[in-house]
Amino acid sequence: MTDLKLVPRFQRFLKNAVFSFLAVLLLTSAAPGAEGRESAKYIFLFIGDGMGEAQVRAAELYSLGSGTGKISFSSMPVRGKMSTSTADGAVTDSAAAGTALASGFKTKNGILNMDPSGTKRFLTVAMLARDRGMKVGIVTSSFLNDATPAAFYAWRPSRTDWYEIGEQLAESGFDYFAGGGVTRRRGRKGNLRDVYGLAREKGYRVLGTREELAAAKPGAPIIAPGSAGALPYDMDRPKGSLSLAEYTRHGIRLLDNPEGFFLMVEGGTIDWACHRNDAAALVHDMAAFDAAVKEALAFAQTRPKETLIVVLADHETGGMSIDGTASAAQVYAVLSNQHRSSEVFDRKIEEFRRGKDRSFEKMLPVITETFGLHSLTEGELNDLRAAFAQSMKPKDQRKRDRNYLRRYGPYEPLSVTATRILGRKAGITWSSFGHSGADVPVFAQGAGSASFAGEYDNTEVGRILMYLLPSR
Ligand SMILES: [Zn+2]
Repeated sequence: MTDLKLVPRFQRFLKNAVFSFLAVLLLTSAAPGAEGRESAKYIFLFIGDGMGEAQVRAAELYSLGSGTGKISFSSMPVRGKMSTSTADGAVTDSAAAGTALASGFKTKNGILNMDPSGTKRFLTVAMLARDRGMKVGIVTSSFLNDATPAAFYAWRPSRTDWYEIGEQLAESGFDYFAGGGVTRRRGRKGNLRDVYGLAREKGYRVLGTREELAAAKPGAPIIAPGSAGALPYDMDRPKGSLSLAEYTRHGIRLLDNPEGFFLMVEGGTIDWACHRNDAAALVHDMAAFDAAVKEALAFAQTRPKETLIVVLADHETGGMSIDGTASAAQVYAVLSNQHRSSEVFDRKIEEFRRGKDRSFEKMLPVITETFGLHSLTEGELNDLRAAFAQSMKPKDQRKRDRNYLRRYGPYEPLSVTATRILGRKAGITWSSFGHSGADVPVFAQGAGSASFAGEYDNTEVGRILMYLLPSR
């Protein structure tokens, strides 16, 4: 642990505390640990995957426009700004970013909790919490062996070693895994032992239904997969299925114990919506993420001096920006016209492609209805018509040149053109279909939260969290 350079970090923390009245206020309200230093017994780490400043702002405007009010974490007392570069590049993926947040060390894209050579393993804050006798939970709307959740329990030279990551989940000794399920749980060829079977041998209960999870008592570790892979976009989620907030609430109930807990909750599909440049899917997934944060805020009211809540992102996705003139009323009025994600619209396009009458005139009312695009300019109509022509070609017959990729990325041309037009009407634009190197926001409150003020690198987050774990 000596290589973690916690001492300089602590000195900086003290400096922050001296110069910031807020920090002093928080410092005095935090519970001292065994050796008189600050610590947090109940730690919540919320990761909005791909959630940059603009994503938070869009969610806030949509929420205000809908009459729901501000989102829960935008007014948290501590604000930070975090850089996200990797060991060798400016733009991170979720594996390298998750590694930095969980372990405090940089690595290369694609690698989980190992050094850039893929040989040395890093200890994570979640593993350390487990070893200190705290309970540990991992909740995500993505699949459980995806990079962000895996960064807390697994070591792999490649994030796509899904099966091996699943095996490490079963071996983790963590207490609660929920949200999405384990993908490829019998391996790529489907011929290996089921990861859930391996987990059962380690004492896990695998609970498939709402009723089973509701009836579960604290004790045996639990895996509660809401799906075979990731959860659907929240706007596509079937009625009656469990939300990210409900998985978080059950997690809190099952993990709560006198030794404390560490709970990581990821809004994983936020990233996917941004990759698709689908602003409506984004604001709904942000609302689902915000609802999960509210569960932690409710818990924090019962143990305010011992609870830390940190809300941050691993990186920004889409190079999203919001027009300075965009209003809450406008963002809500425009985006609320779209009732299903563009992924669902992809399937409509697929059906249409296989149908008999494949004219743009027949598709236009479907676009209008799906996205509420009732008034279109001549330029927008031309863009839709060009995209439609591409979308009607079989996928393997599209000429994916530079121009095509710049316009549509790897997505269905008509879907991405429609969501981009809708976004523009709301004042939202995108500059890419991938991750950006932008700094991301950090929000924090509660025990030890003053350490998250200011500007720092993503590796600091892992180190501060480890520092704040109660000692045993
Ligand atoms: Zn991504």
